[in-house]
Amino acid sequence: MEDIIKIENLTFKYVKDEDEDEEVSAIRGISLDIEKGSFTAIIGKNGSGKSTLAKNLNGLLIPTEGVVYVDGWNTKDEEHIWEIRQIAGMVFQNPDNQLVSSIVEDDVAFGLENLGIESSEIRKRVDIALDSVDMGEFKKNAPHLLSGGQKQKIAIAGVIAMKPKCIIFDEPTAMLDPKGRDEIMTIIKELHEEGITVILITHFMDEAAEAERIVIMNDGKVILDGTPVEVFSKGDLIRSVNLDVPLSV
Ligand code: ADP
Ligand code: MG
Repeated sequence: MEDIIKIENLTFKYVKDEDEDEEVSAIRGISLDIEKGSFTAIIGKNGSGKSTLAKNLNGLLIPTEGVVYVDGWNTKDEEHIWEIRQIAGMVFQNPDNQLVSSIVEDDVAFGLENLGIESSEIRKRVDIALDSVDMGEFKKNAPHLLSGGQKQKIAIAGVIAMKPKCIIFDEPTAMLDPKGRDEIMTIIKELHEEGITVILITHFMDEAAEAERIVIMNDGKVILDGTPVEVFSKGDLIRSVNLDVPLSV
């Protein structure tokens, strides 16, 4: 199988106030390949570098050292940054931070308008995207009046409308109630079944267990990488980084 994302020896440091002494090494030498069409979960405790890794996968952050390729494009290649962001869409934890318009359908159209796509094509894609998250009937509604789960579905529709090959979800269910969590997980699994590459960052072990592959991060490094059965068989190592092993996989 072909890889859609290739991460080669990635290091990422945040520099505070241009002061070299105030560096934070959030990613410390990660190499990882993600197969086209696969479903990978990434878990790790707070501060282990998951969000920093996610933002390096679509050019929101650029490696301090090492290289990230997205469908063959080097994320350091500024000329192709919009192709990279269109190929690898991103859904964040807080849907409120992703909503930009006062009407649902405008919100879903926002990214497409920025790409300069023709308005009839935009309308078509918006309707398909809203239907695919079961939110078609809300297209004229105000996003801020929707529930957290519904807002997250609108944010996902906005990404789907861009026709990405890969979607990176950064703790998309963390702020949702159990019903919202279930609905978002169902959508994520459907997207994978349709052939989209899914990378799901989560701190819920039961969500990670739904993936084909689990990558566990600790302190900016990958400490485990394998199928759920392989990874969860390493109970002592998992508990040593303050994560729980699910009772059944
Ligand atoms: P996670 O998503 O696993 O909780 P993050 O990638 O958010 O981890 O953070 C990894 C490390 O980088 C943490 O030590 C965090 O404090 C630090 N960090 C994250 N964002 C910034 C930032 N904007 N500036 C400085 N340090 C940051
Ligand atoms: Mg995070």
